[in-house]
Amino acid sequence: MGHAPDPPLAARVSKDRSMELQKAMIAGHFERLEQAPASGEPVVYTFVPGNLTELIRSFGALPLLPEINALQSGMRGLSRDYIAAAERAGHSEDVCTYVKCDIGMAMAGNIGPTGTRLPPPDLLLLSYTGCYTFMKWFELLREHYGCPTVFLQVPYQGDGRLAPEHRQYIADQIRSDLIPTLERITGRRYDEERLRHHLALAARAEDDLVAVLESAKHRPSPIDAYFGAVYYVGPIFSAFRGTEEGAEYYRELRREVAERLAAGQGPITPDGPLDDQKYRLVVEGPPNWTSFREFWRMFSQEGAVVVASTYTKVGGTYDFGFRHDAGDPLGTMADYCGGCYTNLNLPTRIDMLVSYIREYQADGFVINSVKSCNSFSAGQLMMLREVEKRTGIPGAFIESDLVDPRYFSAANIKNRLESYFQMLAARRDGGSP
Ligand code: SF4
Repeated sequence: MGHAPDPPLAARVSKDRSMELQKAMIAGHFERLEQAPASGEPVVYTFVPGNLTELIRSFGALPLLPEINALQSGMRGLSRDYIAAAERAGHSEDVCTYVKCDIGMAMAGNIGPTGTRLPPPDLLLLSYTGCYTFMKWFELLREHYGCPTVFLQVPYQGDGRLAPEHRQYIADQIRSDLIPTLERITGRRYDEERLRHHLALAARAEDDLVAVLESAKHRPSPIDAYFGAVYYVGPIFSAFRGTEEGAEYYRELRREVAERLAAGQGPITPDGPLDDQKYRLVVEGPPNWTSFREFWRMFSQEGAVVVASTYTKVGGTYDFGFRHDAGDPLGTMADYCGGCYTNLNLPTRIDMLVSYIREYQADGFVINSVKSCNSFSAGQLMMLREVEKRTGIPGAFIESDLVDPRYFSAANIKNRLESYFQMLAARRDGGSP
C-alpha cells in the first residue's frame, strides 16, 4: 500500500506551494538514495503500514518503500512491462501486482520510477501488519539481495483492540531485535533523544494532516479526500514522517486548505475546480493507479467529491486520535504498528465507514475492490451489506486493480458509477428509502 504524487499529474491539477514542496522533497530523496552507495548512508527497505520511519531516521538511515515505487511505476505507465517480466520469471497471475511490479523493476536493473537508480537495501525491515504478502515479498527480496532482515511481529487486532501484552510484545521486539540490528548495520548507537525529536515532528505533521482531512466536513468540501488526499498522505506515509521537511509540508498544506475553505472553494480536479458538489461520497479500498486520472474524472465529471476514505488511513488512523508520542518512544511505535488499517478487523473497519458516512454527511459510499490486495478485498461484500444496513444508504461496488492495467475496465466501471449516481439523484429527488 502507499501513495506518493505523480509529478506530471500534480503539476496539472495544482500549482500550490505544498505540491512544489512535495515534488522537491521526493526528487531530493531519490537523489540521496541513488548516492547512498557512495555517501555511505544506510538504506532500509520497509512497507507503508507500520513503518518505523522515525526510528530509521534516528539512525541516520534512509527509508525506501517498495509499494510506493510500484504505485509510481503504475502511474507512469511502467508497471505493465515489469509485471509481464515477473510473470515470465514464474510469478503467478494471482500474486499482488505491487510485488510483481517491484520484482520486475529489480530484475530490470532497479531504476526507480523517477529514473534514478535505487540502491540495494542494507536492511529489510518488515513491520508485519496484517498482510501475509508482505512476508513473501521480503522473502523474495532477501533472496535477491542476500541482506539482513528484521521481521517485527505485530499481533492482529482480532477482537478489535491492541491488548497491553500485544503492545509490550511489539515494544520488546523493537528493543531487543530491531534496535541492535540497526546499531549493527548503521554503526551508530541508539539515541533516544534523537528519536523523540523525530516523533515530535511526526505528531506535528499528524495534527496538520487531520485538520486537512476534517476540512471535508464542510460544504463545499475544500478537498477530495480520496483522489486529492492520496497526494496529501504521500509524505507522511513514506519517507518524510518525523522530518523537518515533512512538518513544513503539512503546515503549508493546512494553510492552503484553510484558505480554500474560507473562500468557499472546492478541490482542484483534472477537470478544474469542483465547487458545485452534487454528491458527497465515502470510499473504501485503494485506487487504481494505472488509470488514476481517468478514474478520478469518472467522479469529478459527475460532480462527486469524496469526503472521507479508508485508503488514506493505511499509514495511520490519525483521525481517530492516534499521535506519535515523544514521551513514550517504543510504546508509541508499538501502538502505531498495531493500529494500522490493515491490522484492524472487519467490525472495526465497518465502524469506521459508518462513522465517516455519518460525520461527513455522505450521500453514498463506493467500494473499489482491487484484485491484488486480499488485505483490503476480503470481506468487502459483507462490509457493503452491513454498512448499508446500519446507515440506510446504498453503496456501490466496483472492481479494478492497483497497477495491472489488464484489470481496469474503464467502460464497466464508468457504467456502474453512472447508474449509481443516477440512483443517488433519484433517491434525493424522489425521497425513496
Ligand atoms: S496484498 Fe495488499 S497490503 Fe499486501 S502488499 Fe499487496 S497491496 Fe499491499
